[in-house]
Amino acid sequence: MNDTLPRFEKSHGKSEAEIRRRILKAVFEQRMRPGERLTEEQLATAFDVSRTVVRQAMARLAQDGILEKLPNVGSTVASPSRKQTRDILAIRKMVEPEIVRSLAAAPSGPAVARLRAHLLQEFDARKRGDRGTLVRLTGEFHLLLAELAGNELLTHLMTGLQALTCLAILLHAEREDACPPDEHGTIVAAIEVGDGEAAAAQMLHHLRHVEKDLHLDRPEPESALAWLRGSERERI
Ligand SMILES: [Zn+2]
Repeated sequence: MNDTLPRFEKSHGKSEAEIRRRILKAVFEQRMRPGERLTEEQLATAFDVSRTVVRQAMARLAQDGILEKLPNVGSTVASPSRKQTRDILAIRKMVEPEIVRSLAAAPSGPAVARLRAHLLQEFDARKRGDRGTLVRLTGEFHLLLAELAGNELLTHLMTGLQALTCLAILLHAEREDACPPDEHGTIVAAIEVGDGEAAAAQMLHHLRHVEKDLHLDRPEPESALAWLRGSERERI
């Protein structure tokens, strides 16, 4: 194995958690395309760390479904199918209305202030036309809600689901915007006044809107190999 060569064993550079955060940020900003190939060598050079650290980060991202390991190819950025995306949104529609309902049950001043500050950042990015930042911020809004709910496992789950949603948008949506404007604001307003029912209903409405823009009822595109197999049968 050449992955233990000393030239890769750098003692400085980023930690495994930091590498994962950077890769996730790139996914949230849609800087990484679904199906894009990633190698240990590339990442070790980019982050100035050993391949061992990169391998750990990639293994964790593969566990969370963000990277896929393919035989003879290596690791690629996940490409959620329409069926997988429907499943992801089904979980989000179960979980996220409950997150905002719980926040609205006891709306704290600091939590609402953080949500309002986040909405301002989204507003600024939209005004500047900074699409990458806007897409990341609209995704991070959903993670902030999970974080404010104070459940680390939930935040971890939501991070994976949100990253996969970003990738699905690149694959299946006609527009590449993650969240329609203004809907986050109505959710925060309902949390602020302690109206759990309205917050949950607004969140469900918002996620249905995201789902509709993904056109998940369309048939899956046929792979080239499946097409070749089909056309072979027709000829026989
Ligand atoms: Zn949203």
